[in-house]
Amino acid sequence: MTDEPIAAGAGTLADWRPVGLDPSFADIVPASARLVHQATGAIWSEGPVWLAADGAILWSDIPNDRVLRWSPDAAPAVFLAPAGFQNGHSLDLDGSILACSHGDRRIERLSLDGTRVPVVDRFRGARLNSPNDLVVKSDGTIWFTDPMYGIESDREGHRAESEIGDCLVFRHDPATGELDAVSDWLEHPNGIAFSPDESTLYVSDTSGARLPGGNHHIVAFDVIDGRRLADPRIFYVAEPGLADGFRLDEHGNLFTSAGDGIHVVAPDGRLLGRMPVPEVASNCVFGGRDGRTLFITATTSLYSVGLAVRGATRPR
Ligand code: MG
Repeated sequence: MTDEPIAAGAGTLADWRPVGLDPSFADIVPASARLVHQATGAIWSEGPVWLAADGAILWSDIPNDRVLRWSPDAAPAVFLAPAGFQNGHSLDLDGSILACSHGDRRIERLSLDGTRVPVVDRFRGARLNSPNDLVVKSDGTIWFTDPMYGIESDREGHRAESEIGDCLVFRHDPATGELDAVSDWLEHPNGIAFSPDESTLYVSDTSGARLPGGNHHIVAFDVIDGRRLADPRIFYVAEPGLADGFRLDEHGNLFTSAGDGIHVVAPDGRLLGRMPVPEVASNCVFGGRDGRTLFITATTSLYSVGLAVRGATRPR
C-alpha cells in the first residue's frame, strides 16, 4: 500500500473559524487564525514531530508503513518506507528523534538518514506490545504507552499475541537501562505528555475505540520524585471521539485530538474552545519558525494553524 502519492493540500480553508467557549481562548487562538490544509494522501496520519534545525515536520502514515515529511520550502514527500510501522515521535534532549515502532515493538532512534536503532524492546524478558506515543522528561528518561493496536491485526503492524498480557505506561532510563512500569490504571493508554513543570503526567485512554462503553478520556497523574505516578484522576473526557494524542502550550493548556478537531483544555480541565478539523484528528505538535504554529495530523492529512502561544518547553 506504499505507492499512494502524498500531495500538497488545498491551502487555507476560507470559511474556517475557531470556536471559543471562554474569553481566554482568543489569547490562545486568535479569531483571525485560519486552518491550512498542508498535505494529503495518507491513510491514517499520526505521530507528528517538529524538527527545528530542519524546519520540517515528520509524521507517520501507519497503515502505509511510511514516515512523511513536510516543510514550507518543499513539496510533501515520503521520508522513509518501510518504516517499521512507526507511530509516535518525540525529540530527545540532544534533538535526535525517538520513535515508537509498532512493527518492531520497540522504542527506537530515527536518524535523518533513515537509520533506525533500537532503544528498548523488552519488559522483564517479554516483548513490548506496540509502543504508541512517547515523551522525554528533562532528566532524559523516556515515558511511553504500550497498548495493543499494533499487534491486533496486520493493519498497523504485525498480528501477534501480547507477551506482557497487559497495556502499561512505562518509564525507561537510558542511562541505566531500567524499564519500569509506572501505571496499569488505563485500559488502552495512548497519548502522553507532561505539564510544563513536569509535576503532572497526562495519559489518554482510548479503549472506547475497541471496548463497548470504553474510555475516551485523559487521566492526570501526580509525578512523585520524578519517577513514580500517584493519584490518577480523570482530567478531561473527549467528546466526540478520542484523545489519541496531545501537546501542552507554555501556559499548561492542553491541545488534544478529538473526533471533531482539536480541543483546548485549561490546566483545571475546562474546555476553553475548539479548532474544528474536517477529518478525524489524531495528534498535534507545536512548531514553525516562530514556534507558534500547531501542526495537526488528521486521517489523510496534515493541517496547520497559527496560534498566539508557543509549545511548552522542558524545565531546565
Ligand atoms: Mg496514538
